[in-house]
Amino acid sequence: MSEVNAGAAHAGAKVGSDFDLVIVGAGFAGMYMLHRARGQGLSARVFEAGSGVGGTWYWNRYPGARCDVESMQYSYQFSEELSQEWEWSERYSPQPEILTYANHVADRFDLRSDIQFDTTVAAAHFNDDTGRWDIETGDGGQWSAQFVVMATGCLSSANMPKFEGLDSFRGDTYHTGHWPHEDVDFTGKRVGVIGTGSSAIQSIPIMAEQATQLTVFQRTPNYMVPAHNAPMDQAYAAEVKSDYGALRERARVRPGGIDIEIDLAPALEASDQERRQRYEEKWAYGGFGFMGAYGDLMLNEEANDTAAEFVRGKIRDVVDDPAVADLLSPHNTFGCKRLCVDSNYWQTYNRDNVSLVDVSEKPIERITSAGLSVDGQEFEFDAIVFATGFDAMTGTLLRIDIQGIGGQKLADKWAEGPKTYLGLSIAGFPNMFTVTGPGSPSVLTNMLPSIEQHVDWISDCLDYMRRNGHARITSESQAEEDWVEHVRDTAGLSLRSECSSWYVGANIPGKPRVFMPYMGGYPAYLEKCAEVVENGYQGFALS
Ligand code: FAD
Ligand code: NAP
Repeated sequence: MSEVNAGAAHAGAKVGSDFDLVIVGAGFAGMYMLHRARGQGLSARVFEAGSGVGGTWYWNRYPGARCDVESMQYSYQFSEELSQEWEWSERYSPQPEILTYANHVADRFDLRSDIQFDTTVAAAHFNDDTGRWDIETGDGGQWSAQFVVMATGCLSSANMPKFEGLDSFRGDTYHTGHWPHEDVDFTGKRVGVIGTGSSAIQSIPIMAEQATQLTVFQRTPNYMVPAHNAPMDQAYAAEVKSDYGALRERARVRPGGIDIEIDLAPALEASDQERRQRYEEKWAYGGFGFMGAYGDLMLNEEANDTAAEFVRGKIRDVVDDPAVADLLSPHNTFGCKRLCVDSNYWQTYNRDNVSLVDVSEKPIERITSAGLSVDGQEFEFDAIVFATGFDAMTGTLLRIDIQGIGGQKLADKWAEGPKTYLGLSIAGFPNMFTVTGPGSPSVLTNMLPSIEQHVDWISDCLDYMRRNGHARITSESQAEEDWVEHVRDTAGLSLRSECSSWYVGANIPGKPRVFMPYMGGYPAYLEKCAEVVENGYQGFALS
């Protein structure tokens, strides 16, 4: 491992600086990676495209944005002091509060001095001669590092569909994933919203309260469960804080890394009345716990349909106009696309100023100067909101020109879908790690513990290398192939891999259709990562 270049290890360093470690991204992953690297005495520099920390919570400032994993769980775990001192105000905290938390962490652990903001990493090339990574930033900076950690996020490259006429629109356009920093007020405006995923369902009820007219263009309706968000129950928060470790231990043995009750009994063994009662209880509690009602909801089509029909019944109960209720009702597999956790979404369609347009059969033809057209009908707007999601999991990495040994391009290696070992490492790309990369449970879990687990694994690996005099680590091709096959086989066992979701890249034209996250569950994954280490970094070549 190279000597610490102390002179260069501050944010004022410029072209030509060498670091032990370059970290790309200053979201929760990059921030914690920096903290761990410093603790190990490594010189590290974080490059962040945005002007501040927080990643997802820096960019996604749309009205209504909040976490849908409960805040007491959607928090860092690495510092007991931090866990004890921080107070969340709501069951599911809003984006401004999560961003404040990220900033608090940056200040508390004095992270900013090693983060270079407003700097995009454009290229990372492994240099066969030096055995180091040559890194180029968008401002022309050239950097060198022994190790690179891609903490670039799974949902960090906005998907803007290539609608014809996009530039001709005279009004304002917004993407939920790139929301302006200043307040956006839709009062007195006619607003069109494209998309009905999590970002749309959070923002639509709030935008509807402001806009004169809000028109939602829906391609696929989504399943939702209610959030029942509320001010933080102080007794609950105190109870959790009295033994945070216990909550986290319970979460570690759950498939999604979230402490929710899961009953493994099959849905079809219960009577209609028992099932109804169970679903009602889960519904009344709110959140992802609904998925834990029965053990076979994602394994058995018939079982799944009992949950799907229950949710469709809820839509019919809530939405006044039966035709609109029908249009809002999904008929694909329940939980196949990412489940949304909502607050008053369906109720919003009872408002006189909200309408729903089905674009499933007849897509949006084009954006016009005044709005957009569907099936020959013109819709006029003052603003269009694109809630059209992300090029998930691989998009951000592939926007960087990454080249491994012998100049192999990551884009070529992943032409038919991502290949990684454990979602942590890519064969042929030595000393580069990905945090919650494709092939790890990542987006199927509570992301904060998953991020910390990856960062801890990487940090421990770097420490092991230093102690054993290793300069280079790379995953072996065979280990990677075996893991990719295992990821694929595991995906095939669940109903989740069957629909056109962003999990399989279906939202991006031309993207290879591969189920990207690892479906084997968080506990099995933790076990595998630990086993690899116990067996002397099995599947990795160290030199
Ligand atoms: P990010 O937060 O995405 O940060 C990556 C950073 O890397 C970004 O700041 C980006 O600017 C930077 N970057 C990328 N490429 C480059 C480059 N080339 N050069 C320089 N910088 C670069 N997960 C949950 O578990 N629970 C939730 O409730 C939840 N809610 C979410 C709500 C929204 C609206 C979204 C979009 C996602 C949500 N997620 C949730 C997932 C969320 O992304 C993760 O929880 C987590 O915040 C990811 O942190 P990260 O650091 O890995 O990535
Ligand atoms: P998304 O789930 O991918 O939803 C995008 C929406 O846009 C979909 O309804 C999609 O329709 C539609 N769309 C895309 N292209 C279109 C086109 N050309 N014409 C018409 N409609 C089009 O994206 P997201 O809502 O931003 O959420 C992404 C992920 O981020 C979530 O699944 C979740 O993991 C995370 N997130 C979490 C929260 C939270 O509650 N904490 C909030 C926001 C996001 P199709 O379904 O037909 O493709």
